[in-house]
Amino acid sequence: MNISHLKSGIDLNQLGKEMYQLISEIYPICRSITGNGVRQTLSHIRKHIPLKVREVPSGTNAFDWTVPKEWNITDAYIKNSKGEKIIDFNNSNLHVLNYSIPIKEKVSLSELKEHLFTLPEHPTWIPYRTSYYKEDWGFCLSHNQFSKLRDEEYEVFIDSSLEEGYLTYGEYYIEGKTSNEVLMSCHVCHPSLCNDNLSGIALLCFLAKHLSNVPLKYSYRFLFIPGTIGSIVWLALNESNVTKIKHGLVATNLGDSGRCTYKKSRQGNAEIDQAVLNILKNSGSDYEIIDFVPYGYDERQYCSPGFNLPIGCLMRTPYGRYPEYHTSADNLDFVQPQSLVDSFNVYISVVSVLESNNKYVNQNPKCEPQLGKRELYDKTGGRSDSKTKQLALLWVLNLSDGNHTLLDISDRSDLEFGLIKDAAEALAKCNLLKEAMR
Ligand code: ZN
Repeated sequence: MNISHLKSGIDLNQLGKEMYQLISEIYPICRSITGNGVRQTLSHIRKHIPLKVREVPSGTNAFDWTVPKEWNITDAYIKNSKGEKIIDFNNSNLHVLNYSIPIKEKVSLSELKEHLFTLPEHPTWIPYRTSYYKEDWGFCLSHNQFSKLRDEEYEVFIDSSLEEGYLTYGEYYIEGKTSNEVLMSCHVCHPSLCNDNLSGIALLCFLAKHLSNVPLKYSYRFLFIPGTIGSIVWLALNESNVTKIKHGLVATNLGDSGRCTYKKSRQGNAEIDQAVLNILKNSGSDYEIIDFVPYGYDERQYCSPGFNLPIGCLMRTPYGRYPEYHTSADNLDFVQPQSLVDSFNVYISVVSVLESNNKYVNQNPKCEPQLGKRELYDKTGGRSDSKTKQLALLWVLNLSDGNHTLLDISDRSDLEFGLIKDAAEALAKCNLLKEAMR
């Protein structure tokens, strides 16, 4: 993969450690679509980037949706008839059905069972379950814990609150040379789950931190939002500005050891789709491309027909395709610094392509210009890398008719984008190319 100016000066080893460190810090926090867990998470991100924290009141309408009551929780447990805590929220926040209403009651085993969730096929794992839009209470536990339950009376206690409050999200904007925007979005609503949630947060946090320090053509907007309701609320509040969004990615599932997967935007042939495909094709690693489906993460909202934004989802193993997904096994062992670094590399490469995907016009289009006299041909000749460089020069000259971007030329020539970009810059320096307005 070509190292561009955007990638220079990054200590990847250190970066992997820092992303993993952030994940470890925010792993214990009990997050949900609203509440203090999201605020605490955003305050950890604020140690790295000065993001703005937005608070949207409960009851606010956003298209067909309404911001729900704010949910907070301090404690929860199930006690057996001897008064022993057999399930304790303090051991894992996944034990509580996320958004559970408060409860303090004595219940029989059969009554209790109606509110329990387990994974019989993975008897040591705790499932992650939510009940955002239907008031309910429940506990999630390992199937082994469930199997030990005897027919006795249990005390269930959930010290939660569902009150008028706010939906909280974080937004960070980096101003580039133009007001055209690249949107980067991740969800911050899952409790202790690393790959589905925290890996995206860590990657975007450090991508934003890095991009803050380099000159950029596009402006970049980073959203740290609760899934679904967060993007719906953001789109409702920012509807008049979305035409500025020229490209975008939803970031999630970026720390597992699987190959990269790109889910295309609804448009399917947007520049972001072309850029990601180009980078993955030239990465030398295995990857998978999937077409848009109206299921998944916040791309569902960004790509709803009324917006149809050029936003895809760039991840490693997709939701539901790894058994650890939405269970306690999506933990700190499941994500690895090296996978996070690999994912970061793909993201920064995509940004590099977007930043320099220019169009040029050949100033000497009638027959080939003589490259030798401009010292663009390697005089020694015969070396295979110089042959590839020459080929890049010829492709750029041939296709620079004002209709092809550098990405188009890279795709058609099957030469790496970086090579094509270098060739274009060398030709522009000799006044053989002129940048076309896009
Ligand atoms: Zn999820």
